[in-house]
Amino acid sequence: MSQADMNAMPGALPGLMMDRPLLVAPLLTYAAQFHSDTEIITRSVEGPIHRTTYAEMSRRTQRLAHALIALGVKPGDRVATLAWNTWRHMELYFAVSGIGAICHTINPRLSNEQMRYIIDHAEDRLLFFDLTFADAVADTCKGRKSLLARVVLSDAAHRPARAELSDVLTYEELIAAHDEDYAWPEFDENTAASLCYTSGTTGNPKGVLYSHRSLVLHSFACCMAATMSLNVDDRVLPIVPMFHVNAWGLPYSCPMSGATLIMPGRGLDGPSLFELMDSEFVTCSQGVPTVWMSLLATMREKGRKPKALKRILIGGAAASEMLIEAYEAEFGIQVNHAWGMTEMSPLGVVNNLKPKFLKKTRAEQMPQKLKQGRVVYGVDMRIVDIEGTILAHDGRTPGHLQVRGPWIAKSYFKSDSAALTTDGWFDTGDIATIDADGYMHITDRAKDVIKSGGEWISSVDLENAALDHPQIAHAAVIGIRHPKWLERPYLICVARGAQKPSLQEVNAYLETKVPKWWLPDGIAFVDAIPLGPTGKIQKTKLREQFKDVIAGK
Ligand code: ADP
Repeated sequence: MSQADMNAMPGALPGLMMDRPLLVAPLLTYAAQFHSDTEIITRSVEGPIHRTTYAEMSRRTQRLAHALIALGVKPGDRVATLAWNTWRHMELYFAVSGIGAICHTINPRLSNEQMRYIIDHAEDRLLFFDLTFADAVADTCKGRKSLLARVVLSDAAHRPARAELSDVLTYEELIAAHDEDYAWPEFDENTAASLCYTSGTTGNPKGVLYSHRSLVLHSFACCMAATMSLNVDDRVLPIVPMFHVNAWGLPYSCPMSGATLIMPGRGLDGPSLFELMDSEFVTCSQGVPTVWMSLLATMREKGRKPKALKRILIGGAAASEMLIEAYEAEFGIQVNHAWGMTEMSPLGVVNNLKPKFLKKTRAEQMPQKLKQGRVVYGVDMRIVDIEGTILAHDGRTPGHLQVRGPWIAKSYFKSDSAALTTDGWFDTGDIATIDADGYMHITDRAKDVIKSGGEWISSVDLENAALDHPQIAHAAVIGIRHPKWLERPYLICVARGAQKPSLQEVNAYLETKVPKWWLPDGIAFVDAIPLGPTGKIQKTKLREQFKDVIAGK
């Protein structure tokens, strides 16, 4: 049923509740009023630990709102950030969206060429950047016609020395010149609030344009006990960067829940994270598997966990059995596996066990925990075959995973190409099963699944099985051409030590974990697996590198 049909429902009575818009700025105003002394603690880019409160942040955000307007930012304009997780970046989130403009977070791990493309495509009016990115800014901003000014996120003492940056303003001087009495305007909740480009593993990056309404509804969903269960007693350290899907919404959901925020700045290695978590009594944290691997190495070295850490959320890529087991069994830290994507703001599913699974042994629970999680209320989810026929939720049949909901993109910024199916669903590009309890399990990306004869082989499951082999440190599986089966799996590994196991040795091991017809037809060892800007394996590069390998030859 379309919106127009619903509005026209014959005989329906309008509800008699207030029609107040769901906007972003009131999240911070709420926290400033009712959690005024709750802290936001940052390991600053300049070095020292910086402490502020929601009340102080709200005042500074109002100064920034005045400053943005004085610099010429108008409603609908895009304001870019190239910045780590810090209190200043958070002030930008609220001030930019609060005045009706759009906060465009740029991923600094993109190449300078991709950054130039994005700045031009978004037509950014201002660029706020951390000191770390001064060189990238000097290079990428040359000739960018839309930019009115650039602002370094620091004070006068840290003005970058490079001649190309002599005209940059400093953030602290900029906001000091304005009053802290900005009255946030009220406007339509469907107004755009922030913009994030997908990492573009194929083609140019695509802009996902979040609305105030979608961000606020997504924040409610993030606070639920069934998802991140955020509350006033949480001390949250978002490791996932604010340039990657709004740090999974935490800069909005933490003020909504009154949680304390601990921002890691640029210290994302295991020892830095451990030290900050330990000294600031972090209770929960969110990030991708690679950061959890480096924190695990530090915890093992020290022989303990950061003292207050109770639970972690692992998303962005699949959590392995080894990782879940190490955190839970070795260190007593609860792991919640989660899945989402840029186009979904990103929350789609979070894994926590229903009571019937809690009665089982750890080993029996593991297959359920390895699934990405249970569907979050607000997200509709289905799997379909290549013809679009809806498939059973039996936990066995894999299909193309499609979603819809109020925080899921319906189209891309300044793009004419259709993002949805003809019946209004977003195809995630993932292949998944859904079981009768509502747990979704990603078996592959549609473009990575190996089509052997008429059957599908999950490259992800094969990689995870290979990673459990004691002599394999990293693994990627791609499809290679086969004269009879069309495609067969090919295993590319980084060895853990000097010893490189043979294909026969690896397959003898894999046979205990996956069906026999899945076993790779070949193996290659490399020094490193290529990773993209968000830490995911770049299979396009591997396919290019191994394009001449043919199975069965
Ligand atoms: P991009 O699609 O640009 O690489 P996203 O962060 O939007 O960046 O990535 C979303 C994709 O990441 C999902 O469609 C899925 O393939 C993968 N992903 C996210 N979380 C998980 C997870 N827990 N397990 C497996 N894959 C995941």
